Amino acid sequence: MGKVYIIGGGPGDPALLTLKAYNILKRADVVVYDRLIPKSLLQGLRGELIYVGKEIGDANLQEYINHILVEKAKEHEIVVRLKGGDPYVFGRGEEECIYVLSNGIECEIIPGITSAIAVPAYAGIPVTSRLTSSSGFTVITATRAEGEPIDINYVPKKGTLIILMGIHIIKDVEKSLLKIRDRDEPIAIIENGTTEKQRVFVGKLEELSKIVELNNVKSPAIIVVGDVIKLRDKLWKLT
Ligand code: SAH
Repeated sequence: MGKVYIIGGGPGDPALLTLKAYNILKRADVVVYDRLIPKSLLQGLRGELIYVGKEIGDANLQEYINHILVEKAKEHEIVVRLKGGDPYVFGRGEEECIYVLSNGIECEIIPGITSAIAVPAYAGIPVTSRLTSSSGFTVITATRAEGEPIDINYVPKKGTLIILMGIHIIKDVEKSLLKIRDRDEPIAIIENGTTEKQRVFVGKLEELSKIVELNNVKSPAIIVVGDVIKLRDKLWKLT
């Protein structure tokens, strides 16, 4: 019986993979990977590659992934489940790990650098800063299994707010945020962050959906709200 490693592949720049993850990937017999995994991470690997990129809300695909992990671990020693960013940040890594363990197969998590923090950093935006009013940051999803896209109980009145999976429903996101935050607060939208295709747009909260539509911003993208965005011109950024 083999072992399943649930590995965070980092935010997009292939060099942001951890050393621990890299060493296991090289030895893997099977690699089950997602849409957001940088292709160069897969080049030169010896193991069988299985693509399971999922469309939002495809429940059967998750069952299929769980099943593949268990079946492959019965036949092979090292099975890697390679996920974008960190497996435990809106990644369902915990569901996969629970399933694998409940089938009597060993499972280990190797955390990854989450896009929630690294994507803003590559756009010149620190998620916290003593130089602005921000004394914390919040990461939320705009795509939930049930209810409204954003649960406004999770939107703080102040501090840096980072929103994942919000681009395809940007009008709803803007409407929800305006219930809690000021219309002239700084916002940034970062598409394909940390990669050579990175694009960054900045503006005010009330312009959020307009900016996304005018520039035809597509997933994967992250939305940041808060004063930390004002530091952007003083800091290193990729674009
Ligand atoms: N587990 C992942 C997040 C999975 S949810 C992590 O820790 O990063 C997928 C969402 O992450 C996307 O819809 C997008 O909002 C964000 N995302 C992931 N990679 C990104 C990238 N390179 N640039 C911008 N957003 C990204």
